[in-house]
Amino acid sequence: MPARKTRKKTRPKLNGAHPFRVGRSRTGLGVFATEPIGKNKYIVEYTGPLLTNAQCDEAADNRYWFEVNSRWTIDGSPRSNVARYINHSCRPNADPMIRDRRIWIKAIKNIEPGEEINYDYGKDHFNAYIKPHGCQCDKCREKRRKERAEVRAANARKRKRAERAS
Ligand SMILES: [Zn+2]
Repeated sequence: MPARKTRKKTRPKLNGAHPFRVGRSRTGLGVFATEPIGKNKYIVEYTGPLLTNAQCDEAADNRYWFEVNSRWTIDGSPRSNVARYINHSCRPNADPMIRDRRIWIKAIKNIEPGEEINYDYGKDHFNAYIKPHGCQCDKCREKRRKERAEVRAANARKRKRAERAS
């Protein structure tokens, strides 16, 4: 008889004590590492009531909804869900892993104490909630800073040309 493929049911191991704290961030609250978190370590579970996607279609939109598959969504809005305070970044150091209708936030880089933990919220969420206000992640701020510097340099060149011409 061929070996049957079985899904691993073991739950990812979390550190006993949380290696993070909720604190002030650029955009309100955020989650910050309090000790080194190694790459591939599970940081925290994204928790909340499980809703069917059909239920979500009927309800008012909620930015803490997290679709786990084509049928189910976790409503992460309860305050007990610490993972809801993790902010978006376009250059993240963590990533959500979905297993058996549960979501775990996992480090994808080594994270140093004091560093903010963030993950990419995905295109749909980004376009609906983040893009309208301008993304405040490091990558986007750096990009805007460079763009402003280029405009300033171009204006300076224009001024110099104008001075020489006069
Ligand atoms: Zn960004």
